[in-house]
Amino acid sequence: MASSHECPKCGHANPEGARDCENCGITFDIYSSEVEKAQREKEEAEKAAAKAAEEAKYQVPCPKCQHMNLAVTDDCLKCGIVFSKSYEIAEAELKDDPEKADELAELLAQKQRHEELKAELLKKQAEEAARKEQEEKERLDRLRKERERQEALRKEQEEKERLEAEKREAERKRQEEEERKRQEKLRREQEEKEHQEAEKRAEEERKRQAELEKEQERLKKEQEEKERIAAQKALEEEKKRQAEQERLDKEKRKQEEKDQEEALRLEKLNNLLKPKATIKKLLKPYIGETVGMNYDVPTVIKTVKLLSVNDDYLSVHVEDDETVFSYPLRNILSVAENIDGITTGGAKNKATFSMVIKVSHRMV
Ligand SMILES: [Zn+2]
Ligand SMILES: [Zn+2]
Repeated sequence: MASSHECPKCGHANPEGARDCENCGITFDIYSSEVEKAQREKEEAEKAAAKAAEEAKYQVPCPKCQHMNLAVTDDCLKCGIVFSKSYEIAEAELKDDPEKADELAELLAQKQRHEELKAELLKKQAEEAARKEQEEKERLDRLRKERERQEALRKEQEEKERLEAEKREAERKRQEEEERKRQEKLRREQEEKEHQEAEKRAEEERKRQAELEKEQERLKKEQEEKERIAAQKALEEEKKRQAEQERLDKEKRKQEEKDQEEALRLEKLNNLLKPKATIKKLLKPYIGETVGMNYDVPTVIKTVKLLSVNDDYLSVHVEDDETVFSYPLRNILSVAENIDGITTGGAKNKATFSMVIKVSHRMV
């Protein structure tokens, strides 16, 4: 297709879609309809001329006015005579006159030609009618066939549309089914997901519960431990308190003992300080006790047990050799008493005694 519109009149190339020619100014639609109309008129004129020429072949002159009439017409279109009657009358007039034999022959020839042309034209017309009838039949046939074809096409189209509709319906059903399946799948997936989430939540809840229990257990243990420690502490404090009490009691007892000892000592001291009537009375309180005595070597004080004090002697017992020594009371040189004890001996034989008796080893 040309991208320009060529003018049918002047041949100018106009832009695509133009309605009028830029060069000669014609409107294309009007111009083409005018051209078609002229063409149609020309064709009709040619047809009419052809028909006239055809008809001219079958025209015969009127025997009276010489007007040319179609051979099939019964009377003259101009003077109105009826041809069959006219021929009859003329024939009758000429028949009995021998001088007019040529005229008669000519008339008969004309009549003959007229009849022949008429027959020929009738035949032609009949043929034409038959042809037209045939054409009409064929036209109707074509029409019928066209209608049948259209009907077949219509049916085919309907069938096609029906099939397409069926196909569409099937497709729609398939899509519906697919959609249904998809929805079902989604629903199942959703359910599965929710199920899993619920399980997860339950699991978390269990874990949380377990942790809570663990925490409670831990707190309980912690509390128990605290209580245990507190109890232990209280116990220790009680023990401490008791120990302290015991210590205090002990101290008190000690003090009491000390006080008692002190009282005893004071009493002893009083006794010591009190003048005794005899040496016997001085020694008597020490009977059964260990005392210091220079019993074998005059300068060495050793441990002995005072066994008895009699009117004129005393007896001591030396544990080392199981010997009992007795001395006359008049041999006693001194008796030393000290409630805090008397310490004798060097660093080697150190000893402490509540009383030390020194005796003379010379015989008097
Ligand atoms: Zn033009
Ligand atoms: Zn005539």
